[in-house]
Amino acid sequence: MSAIKELQQKYELEVFPKRDVVLVKGKGAHLWDEEGNEYIDCAAGIGVASIGHANPKLAEALKKQADTLITCPGTFYNDMKAKALEKLISVAPEGMTKAYLCNSGTEAVETAIKFARYVTKKKGFISAMKGFHGRTLGALSATYKMEYREDFMPLIEGFSFVPYNNFEKLESAITEDTAGIILEPIQGEGGINIGDKEYFQKVRKLCDDNNIMLIIDEIQTGFCRTGKFFATEYLGIKPDMMTVAKAMGGGFPVGATLCSDKIQIPPGKHGTTFGGNALACSAVIASIDFMLENKLDKKANELGAYFLEKISKYELSKVREIRIKGLMIGIELKEKVQPILQELMNRKIVALPAGNTVLRMLPPLVISKEDIDIVVENLADVLK
Ligand SMILES: *Cc1c(COP(=O)(O)O)cnc(C)c1O
Repeated sequence: MSAIKELQQKYELEVFPKRDVVLVKGKGAHLWDEEGNEYIDCAAGIGVASIGHANPKLAEALKKQADTLITCPGTFYNDMKAKALEKLISVAPEGMTKAYLCNSGTEAVETAIKFARYVTKKKGFISAMKGFHGRTLGALSATYKMEYREDFMPLIEGFSFVPYNNFEKLESAITEDTAGIILEPIQGEGGINIGDKEYFQKVRKLCDDNNIMLIIDEIQTGFCRTGKFFATEYLGIKPDMMTVAKAMGGGFPVGATLCSDKIQIPPGKHGTTFGGNALACSAVIASIDFMLENKLDKKANELGAYFLEKISKYELSKVREIRIKGLMIGIELKEKVQPILQELMNRKIVALPAGNTVLRMLPPLVISKEDIDIVVENLADVLK
């Protein structure tokens, strides 16, 4: 057995089922294991490495900032924080005017829950069946999968679930105490289920009419993944809050809760030690700059269309449906996905599941057409 694997198994409190590979290096859309095997990465660390692994622009920015100032408490102003916030708001959907910086997706959702309660003075939340919003107790309360929740009850009071894209069910679920509705524009973990524009527009109006905060979770869909900077742009709505993380710092841990003018929170009510530290902010600036300079939104769109065109040429008997937006790809299978993922690993392609039967691919947005060709050929063979 690999010495590294043995060492890690000895000391890690393992919460993830593992693949039997030790990854040691990445470059662009490629990964290498300790034996020197090279993989095409269609996972990007679960949609994180959108600007590619070992991105030189990001590495340079981090090095420079590490030599200058790594940490700065929230009780001071800071040049990198000011610039990162400006950059973030400049690419955010219309109506998002301020942001709270934190360190992860679940924290961004946690913050949105607290802010919604503060602003509305109400307590309840509604989220969607098959939705995923994180693993801390608040975000977990909005996460649908029973396997994630059952052993940690009681969770936060006042959370309920309705079917995604079904307005009547949502409308009948709201009460006088509903503070917020939390939805992904495209459900990621839940199987790449694409949000319906008309549905979201009705939800927007429902929230307006009932003083409910509409919280859009763009943690997986954000930062060019779906062919727009944010998937909210497809829906033609203005959220009250939007949660982001994953690709935001190119792999550096950072998240944010973006807020509209409705969200006013006095100092002292919420906070974080690490959130918005200068090093994380330098990563955000470098990552967003890279996305803008390389038009990664357009690239995701073009490459997604290219993938679909290529894969559509094959007869795939194991496939029920392909759902795709930009480079957010879900292939619903007629069988379990795990053996397919293993077969792809054997062929040196890293992909992801989304539930038991959906093969999910979130490659770095810098992936080449040549790599997509290789991925498609292998998929065609494995899924024929
Ligand atoms: C990954 C994810 C989260 C949780 O983010 P973490 O950084 O893992 O806490 C929340 N919502 C969505 C939609 C996600 O994809």
